[in-house]
Amino acid sequence: DAKACGRNTFSYYTAQMNQCAQRRLAIEEQIHGALNRQEFSICYQAKTDLTSGEIMGAEALLRWHNPVLGNVPPDEFISVAEQTGNIIQLGQFVLKQALSQTARWHKQFNADFQIAINLSPRQFRDPMLVNFIEDSLKATGVAADKLELEITEGVLLSGHNYVEAMLTNITNLGVQLAMDDFGTGYSSLSYLRSYPFDVLKIDRSFINEITNSDKDKALINAVVSMSHALNLRVVAEGIETDEQCNYLRKLGCDYGQGYLFSKPITADAMSSLLEQSMQLAQPKN
Ligand code: C2E
Ligand code: MG
Ligand code: MG
Ligand code: MG
Repeated sequence: DAKACGRNTFSYYTAQMNQCAQRRLAIEEQIHGALNRQEFSICYQAKTDLTSGEIMGAEALLRWHNPVLGNVPPDEFISVAEQTGNIIQLGQFVLKQALSQTARWHKQFNADFQIAINLSPRQFRDPMLVNFIEDSLKATGVAADKLELEITEGVLLSGHNYVEAMLTNITNLGVQLAMDDFGTGYSSLSYLRSYPFDVLKIDRSFINEITNSDKDKALINAVVSMSHALNLRVVAEGIETDEQCNYLRKLGCDYGQGYLFSKPITADAMSSLLEQSMQLAQPKN
């Protein structure tokens, strides 16, 4: 009966919650010292100009391989790292490493290559964040406007004055600012009004259904028009099919990112991809 079912459901969820808590605890235990043990690496996912078909940049995505836990996805470990504070050092690792790599790609392939890096809320409580970004740009020689920082609503939600001040200082360096996962939060529109964004990334959940759902089509139409009216460039996340890509190109969406073009891959694999894309652009003879 319903009562028994309720009880069963209750004990089921309790067991599941217990499992989640244990997993979290294990992650917390293992993340300590993992950076020094060199368990983290960075993958890069291409961003493609939908008009020319060229790779114009990439997003840096953190990867963690731990001997006990195996591969732990960022959706699991980033929130733990936020809580433990490890995200500060992890974030610095990503910035330094991705910018050094970008400097090499600028020399080898394309000086306009744009690197995008994710920042999470806790990193904005680090008073050295802006200095660290500036120093990393100087040390690697990457021009500020080739760095794009992706933030989600979570960063802005804290509502602290210092977040606004830091974002202003960051954009004053000449760094580009992108709103990530647009459409999944509660007040994305008011944030667009209040903060100096250059780029808007439409969340993957809207792209998924774009060729089936008239509602999602209408929403994406509106978001692209609104973005251009506000002088924002638009990136569509999670493009997996030609159909989705063609639809977005026709709409005038500027850039695309997704498995259709490339999964997140190692720096070496990204170099090969850039080399191929150069050869296509400049055929020999
Ligand atoms: P995000 O910034 O929105 O990154 C895009 C995510 O979508 C990536 O997942 C990427 O692998 C995935 N993705 C891209 N194209 C497709 C597609 O066509 N289909 C599907 N199904 N998925 C696609 P990933 O690498 O697992 O990262 C998850 C999230 O973790 C990121 O979402 C970001 O919020 C966070 N994250 C990753 N690296 C970092 C980092 O270095 N620092 C911080 N603070 N957060 C990070
Ligand atoms: Mg992102
Ligand atoms: Mg995103
Ligand atoms: Mg995301």
